[in-house]
Amino acid sequence: MNAMRGSLGWIEVVCGPMFSGKSEELIRRLRRAEIARQRVQIFKPAIDERYATNQIVSHDDGRIHAESVSNATEVQAKLDVRTEVIGIDEAQFLGEAMVDFVVRLADMGKRIVIAGLDTDYLGRPFHPMPELLAVADEITKTLAICMQCGNPAKHTQRLIASEDLIVVGAAGMYEARCRRCFEPNLAAVEIQKKKQMELITAVAR
Ligand code: ADP
Ligand code: ZN
Repeated sequence: MNAMRGSLGWIEVVCGPMFSGKSEELIRRLRRAEIARQRVQIFKPAIDERYATNQIVSHDDGRIHAESVSNATEVQAKLDVRTEVIGIDEAQFLGEAMVDFVVRLADMGKRIVIAGLDTDYLGRPFHPMPELLAVADEITKTLAICMQCGNPAKHTQRLIASEDLIVVGAAGMYEARCRRCFEPNLAAVEIQKKKQMELITAVAR
């Protein structure tokens, strides 16, 4: 896709589980665009402020500047009309309106590079990633390495007790798992255990 010339816009999507190198890949592509002196703007969800508010930080400590936003309207408000390349990390947190928005940007001649989780902690499609994949010109699926057995990992295993769709966290709260080792019910089992412990403690008092 990088060989394309002129003002034709397009949408690239990088998706996969946590720890699969999505942010690294996003940073690599955007850095190259910056080296080539293209005008680049990068956005990330405001809820993901694990490491820095004004940077995307990969699990390997790769970094690039980024602006925090909550949805497509905020991206639009911060977007400079002269920007040629737009990077978006953790797109699964930015809402459905991103889909039409990035299509409009591509139609205007912009290159959009999007990274995001394709599935949630239960292995279900994480919206709006499926829709973004559908409108993309180019798709890259990244895999991690299963922390249990070393096979290619396509799942994000939640290790803590929570049934919320969004629990922002990194190592210790999540790990990469292959199809065979993925235990979608683990979070529910942990909640059950926690409740039982609370009950035992309450009875013991
Ligand atoms: P993502 O954006 O997909 O969560 P990152 O680009 O932030 O991934 O981080 C990728 C890095 O995470 C790898 O280069 C490696 O250093 C680290 N890492 C941690 N756990 C794993 C794993 N199970 N498999 C592969 N890489 C891992
Ligand atoms: Zn495994």
